[in-house]
Amino acid sequence: METTHTLIIGAGQAGVATSAHLAKHGIPHVVLERARIAERWRTERWDSLVANGPAWHDRFPEAEFDDIDPESFAGKDRVAQYFETFARTRDLPVRTGVTVTRLERHGAGFRAVTSQGIIDAQNVVVATGPFQRPLIPTTVSDPGIAQLHSNAYRNPGALPEGAVLVVGAGSSGAQIAEELARSGRKVFLSVGPHDRPPRRYRGQDFVWWLGKLGKWDMKAPTPGTEHITIAVSGAYGGHTMDFRRLAALGVVLLGRAGAVLNGVLQLAPDLQANIENGDRNYLSVLDEADAYAAAHGLDLPPEPEARQLLPLPTSVTNPITALDLRGEGIGSIIWATGFRPDFGWIAMDIFQEDGRPTHKDGISDVPGLYFVGLPWLSCRGSAFIWGAWRDAERLAGLIAADTPGKA
Ligand SMILES: Cc1cc2nc3c(=O)[nH]c(=O)nc-3n(C[C@H](O)[C@H](O)[C@H](O)COP(=O)(O)OP(=O)(O)OC[C@H]3O[C@@H](n4cnc5c(N)ncnc54)[C@H](O)[C@@H]3O)c2cc1C
Repeated sequence: METTHTLIIGAGQAGVATSAHLAKHGIPHVVLERARIAERWRTERWDSLVANGPAWHDRFPEAEFDDIDPESFAGKDRVAQYFETFARTRDLPVRTGVTVTRLERHGAGFRAVTSQGIIDAQNVVVATGPFQRPLIPTTVSDPGIAQLHSNAYRNPGALPEGAVLVVGAGSSGAQIAEELARSGRKVFLSVGPHDRPPRRYRGQDFVWWLGKLGKWDMKAPTPGTEHITIAVSGAYGGHTMDFRRLAALGVVLLGRAGAVLNGVLQLAPDLQANIENGDRNYLSVLDEADAYAAAHGLDLPPEPEARQLLPLPTSVTNPITALDLRGEGIGSIIWATGFRPDFGWIAMDIFQEDGRPTHKDGISDVPGLYFVGLPWLSCRGSAFIWGAWRDAERLAGLIAADTPGKA
């Protein structure tokens, strides 16, 4: 039996950031990580994944990527190494290979049952990730077709022969579809409602524009947009995710995937609307950026050509309404359909029907229990590297304020 002041569960970016801030306050704490630091960057992402934001942006404010061009996009292994180095050089108290299997209230604090014994703590910060359990919406019962979630996809060569159906066109699905098409695979891509901001506009990356336009600090999604994914890519040096360009690469675009009946995938008649709404989102970012540049007298080169869109491809104007999986030679399906929470190991009555914890900016209703790293924890930036850092700083400050002599 061990006791600590504050227990952090999970050593991805959010857990590491929280540990760094608690250390600054001199708060005794332990970080428990079931595998390795930044495990999800190491083993739950495909081989070629690079950060979605440039290296100057997708990092902790205190540490730069010192060996790569700040405008480039760090590879996933480099990102994992970044967090590992950050934790090790600061001597943060991370224990790897320890899984917390149960967390419960205990006296005025908490008891964590772990794979290596019991730890009691006054405070607990749960940092087990925004994307925990893969979500696969439909069952396709054809043993001849390999099925995997995007978190298990590695590279084109690891898939069985044949065409590939990618379901979901957020950043993961769109990037995977592009990689497969470039490798020479026949690809079908089911495209739902999405935003697709320009990668760069008037010489600045879109993450810079989102900052200027105050969008990273938004407190909640605009009502009605909660289920809209965002399609961006840092791959191949970074480019705007344009589904017309994917079609030109040979990708067959499809509407939203529905049920599979007798081996035939039913498709919603929404493809053109989804593409056009994505275009509207793209153009609205250009409009807002232009208005901001004018209002603030920014001397940025105009880029009128960014407004020229290619014609809609025939797969959009004359969409397929049902896809015979075997008939089209599909050998694998990649479900890029998102994740759901997995907090079943926390024995406290603070979870909503969809599994998300009830909290206010990461502070739960149970005194001393905090969450960090979740999507929209306090703002849009919360699940991103620098956003988790900011939330961790605030929560560590609260813990310190509650600890005599540590504020
Ligand atoms: C494909 C993809 C690409 C992304 N790209 C970017 C990007 O480019 N830039 C960006 O800012 N964000 C990106 N994100 C979002 C986000 O930054 C990552 O999901 C990031 O990994 C989240 O960090 P985290 O620390 O909150 O959680 P995680 O990285 O998920 O870390 C949680 C840790 O907790 C551990 N853990 C879980 N349960 C337990 C337990 N019970 N006991 C002990 N340990 C446990 C896990 O092993 C894991 O190491 C991306 C997300 C995805 C899915």
